[in-house]
Amino acid sequence: MILLQWNGVQFKSLSNFIALVFCVFVSTQLFASEVVTTNITEVPVTLPQVYETYSYEEKVDWLKQAIDNSKSRDNIYRLTTELVFQYDLNNETELIRSTCQSLPPESKDLDYRLLCVTAHVDNDETKLKTLVVLQKDALEADNIRVAAESSSTIAWIYSSFGEIEQAFRNYEIALPLAEYANIYLFNDVTLNLATLYIVHGDSEYVEKGISLMLDAIERVNNLLLDDPSASRYVENTLARIHFNLGIANTFHRTNYPQALHYFGLIDPELTELRQSVLVFSSLAYAELNNFEESKALLAQSFQVPSSQTFNSDYLKCYQEVIKVKLDDSTEIEQCHLLSESTSVEVQQDLLKRMIDAEHAELSLIGLQKLYSLYINSLLPLLKQNSGKSASRTELTRLQQESRLKGELINKEKALTAAEQEKLASQSNLTIAIIAVFILLLLMVVLQLRQKQKLADQFAQMSLFDKLTGLNNRHYFEQNIKREMRFVKRAIEGDRYTPIAIYLFDIDHFKNVNDTYGHDVGDEVLIEFARRINEAIRDSDMFIRWGGEEFLLVARLFELDDYYAIAERVRGAISDTEFELENMLKLKVSCTIGSVIFPSSPEDDLTRPWDQLVKLADNALYMGKRQQRDCWVCVDKVIAEENFSLVLSQDLEDSIKDNLVEVTHSIKEFDRS
Ligand code: GH3
Ligand code: MG
Ligand code: MG
Repeated sequence: MILLQWNGVQFKSLSNFIALVFCVFVSTQLFASEVVTTNITEVPVTLPQVYETYSYEEKVDWLKQAIDNSKSRDNIYRLTTELVFQYDLNNETELIRSTCQSLPPESKDLDYRLLCVTAHVDNDETKLKTLVVLQKDALEADNIRVAAESSSTIAWIYSSFGEIEQAFRNYEIALPLAEYANIYLFNDVTLNLATLYIVHGDSEYVEKGISLMLDAIERVNNLLLDDPSASRYVENTLARIHFNLGIANTFHRTNYPQALHYFGLIDPELTELRQSVLVFSSLAYAELNNFEESKALLAQSFQVPSSQTFNSDYLKCYQEVIKVKLDDSTEIEQCHLLSESTSVEVQQDLLKRMIDAEHAELSLIGLQKLYSLYINSLLPLLKQNSGKSASRTELTRLQQESRLKGELINKEKALTAAEQEKLASQSNLTIAIIAVFILLLLMVVLQLRQKQKLADQFAQMSLFDKLTGLNNRHYFEQNIKREMRFVKRAIEGDRYTPIAIYLFDIDHFKNVNDTYGHDVGDEVLIEFARRINEAIRDSDMFIRWGGEEFLLVARLFELDDYYAIAERVRGAISDTEFELENMLKLKVSCTIGSVIFPSSPEDDLTRPWDQLVKLADNALYMGKRQQRDCWVCVDKVIAEENFSLVLSQDLEDSIKDNLVEVTHSIKEFDRS
């Protein structure tokens, strides 16, 4: 696969880069810190101070010698781990693989496990299974980097299996984690996801992929402002993005001027890409009928020395197609040889161009190869994807379609046989081309159906609310446990930094819909979300809980913030009128209920989050009954055993029974 393979190369070097940063950390941690006793007593080996100044070879020699001189398993293990990190920095995959085999990583050693599984040669089921276990362990241990890298590799493998749904799902897990882990990984995952959108999506997804890539360009350029030493990384990443954008414009958008623009931005010295860029630029010029420029670039593409060509088999066929188009040659040997293992995306593009060529034999080969691509790759994929969620009627239709296809294929086989006897016969060729058009039509219909399904499933998995652009409840459920674990760990480390959970509900929102219509209601929701977003910190988790209810999770660095945030949000909504479209001005307010977790370091740290939300909801409803446009903050539930009673009754009753402490902004509190 042209795009994925190219991405694959980059991915590897990126993980090395991250390992470099990480390795400095590991080498100080592993060797300078705690001592673990083993059955054989031996003083733990520490790295000498000069070690950091050693070259790669010196480091490896030093480590190997130290391993030979060590007897305790513990020392050998630590030194070997360091050795493997060094191998990784130097791209020695073979050595990593053999070392991992002779000394497998311990289960708690997530980083070493990641290196070993990444070094595994084949993207097969075994590798996938190992990665899934690693992903789970890393998520549990909050090792964000390993979780992100393993999720991204899982996605990668699924996409190479053609299981696109699973690939999307795992990239979706990887993306927020990678954003949190570091910018290099984030760029990498973004670009892989963008490529997946482009390769496997309909036109809407292609645009989405392109816009992800454009965002990445800006982010990557900004890196240079902070760190001029990142220039090599920036150069390589930009080349990769521009190449993918060029390809997206060639294969999917057929916007050749745009494709040429992107190819033109790539440094011609980047040898891995040189031949591909020359061939695809030549193709674009030929499509634009600029034959002179096309010819010149094509000639250059033949001059790239074979040592610098990258996966060039299908490029050779492209070269022939261009030559035919330029009326330069009728030879089509390389297209004859085009391998079935060429990526589906490339085959689809190339075969289409072969069939369209004004060259009877080339068209016929294109046709034959399209059949086998269809039978061997596309049909099973379509069946598999349709089969998963298809209803009975859909299945029946699919069967009918495949019967029809079978008939077409048989007809075509007969035609091809006749064609071989009487190759020059124009009439047979015309019939064959008509058959192919029918087939192509069928393929398009089937693919559109598959893509629609994919889009629906993707929307279901989405973590965003369409109307406001905020994250949704699904996102909250995925992230709240991590927030709570963070609080717990801080308390274990003697720091009390609780979180507050606020629920906001717009007052009398039904009136807005009833009086001004649903569209105005929607506008109010968008403006409501925008105002709150402005009043809170970027790091807070603010989501649409559902309907006109929103939820905020904020870390509290000062206890007074607990009430201050509530008052700030209340004021942000009701102090100034909402100015909507058509000059409409509306007074909007909301009621707020909230809880703090934990209310003291001694509080129950294992409380499920849904109980906290329920308590915030009880507080909100007290605010609604008493006044509206106010906030009610539950400070604490006085005794643990009262918690379930407090959840089950009105908060006013719990206050009356002295079961809770509450602070609120209600002016005249009605105790009755
Ligand atoms: P209260 O002060 O008691 O909260 O009164 P309310 O009118 O806000 O009460 P309620 O919660 O019953 O009404 C919520 C309304 O929000 C009902 C529903 O039609 C509307 N709603 C939910 N989601 C949307 C949306 O996406 N767009 C629009 N325009 N309205 C929505
Ligand atoms: Mg409501
Ligand atoms: Mg409401």
